[in-house]
Amino acid sequence: MESIATNIEEIREQIIAACIEAGRDPAEVRLIAVSKNQPASLIKEAFDTQQIEFGESYVQEFLEKHEDPLLEHLPLEWHFIGHLQSNKIRSIIGKVSLIHGIDKLTTAEELSKRALQHNLQANYLLEVNTSGEPSKYGMKPDDVLASAEALFALPGITLCGLMTIASPDRVLAQKEFRQLRTLLETLQPISPDPSKLTELSMGMSGDFREAIHEGATMIRVGTAIFGWR
Ligand SMILES: *Cc1c(COP(=O)(O)O)cnc(C)c1O
Repeated sequence: MESIATNIEEIREQIIAACIEAGRDPAEVRLIAVSKNQPASLIKEAFDTQQIEFGESYVQEFLEKHEDPLLEHLPLEWHFIGHLQSNKIRSIIGKVSLIHGIDKLTTAEELSKRALQHNLQANYLLEVNTSGEPSKYGMKPDDVLASAEALFALPGITLCGLMTIASPDRVLAQKEFRQLRTLLETLQPISPDPSKLTELSMGMSGDFREAIHEGATMIRVGTAIFGWR
């Protein structure tokens, strides 16, 4: 197994290569290191290569890492990328820079309520089920459009973009990434502030090159950095 530093360096090179192929500026694509199931010591190792943004999927595990003495003083930016139930929102609000996995109007309403209570502005992405697989979380694209006005009206929270987990097949995945981008482009003109609705969180270890080609602004990479666990 290569070291984490070597893995991150290779991924950064692959991001640059994919951006050049796609005619994009590599500064438009942020690497989120998915550290779920990984110990704090390995997060520290990744941080030592200047990796700042980390993604976590489970509330309890995230909270433990957030308070871990090895990490708590580091300027880390945490992304919550797991499925988020309404009743868990209050434990993570204010501790994460972006929540990727909101997939219901009612969950967004709860986020709004908690943000107002904490007197902060919370940033979130809507998770979209682009593959249509019933086992996956996420709103149907049509439901996103139908809920858009209600979502935009919620105080205390800002919809920053869309997130998806694509099919394992890369050809299908690329289509689904394109579909997510098209959906974002459909939402932008009806948004109260299109300049804030810009993020496409798509692409993981196996398909981030395709995602970058289709406009990803954030890729979520776990296994290719930390290995299997
Ligand atoms: C685990 C996970 C990832 C990372 O997947 P890899 O294939 O290990 O890169 C990305 N996004 C989400 C939502 C995840 O749960």
